[in-house]
Amino acid sequence: MYTKEDCLFCKIVRGEVPCTKVYEDEDVLAFLDISQTTVGHTLIIPKEHFDNFLFVPKDLLGKVFSVAQKVSQALVAGLRAKGVNILVNTNEIAGQTIMHFHVHVIPRYSTEDAIKIDFIPREIGKLNLPKIANDISFNLKK
Ligand code: AMP
Ligand code: ZN
Repeated sequence: MYTKEDCLFCKIVRGEVPCTKVYEDEDVLAFLDISQTTVGHTLIIPKEHFDNFLFVPKDLLGKVFSVAQKVSQALVAGLRAKGVNILVNTNEIAGQTIMHFHVHVIPRYSTEDAIKIDFIPREIGKLNLPKIANDISFNLKK
């Protein structure tokens, strides 16, 4: 079973595993992603363990995204990134490999960056968009 004791990012928070720190406050830690997809690729995490995006209390979510914005501003203003991608993989099907909520901030410098996030449009002719929207809005938590 997966526990906080063996969660890699909890170990980083506790200082048991090293990281290259970018920012820290009471609730949030930002450190360089070990893969450095592009130079400056940073992960923002809450210090408290939540498995993923679906479970993070909204105040804390706001704090994490606020740090993601600060780091993005530093990458654009300071490291001359031309833009950033903000990415949150949620659950294994979506590519989440570390089950401690994290936001990727991926600076983009050129079209040659070794990353491509593409939305491939599908033929929507046969889809009932109002029904899809209704199914979602009906299930929104109050
Ligand atoms: P995800 O696939 O969204 O769960 O992203 C997990 C990220 O954690 C990957 O981009 C990994 O490169 C990164 N990662 C794994 N181990 C470490 C580590 N020890 N320090 C920093 N980043 C890590
Ligand atoms: Zn954790």
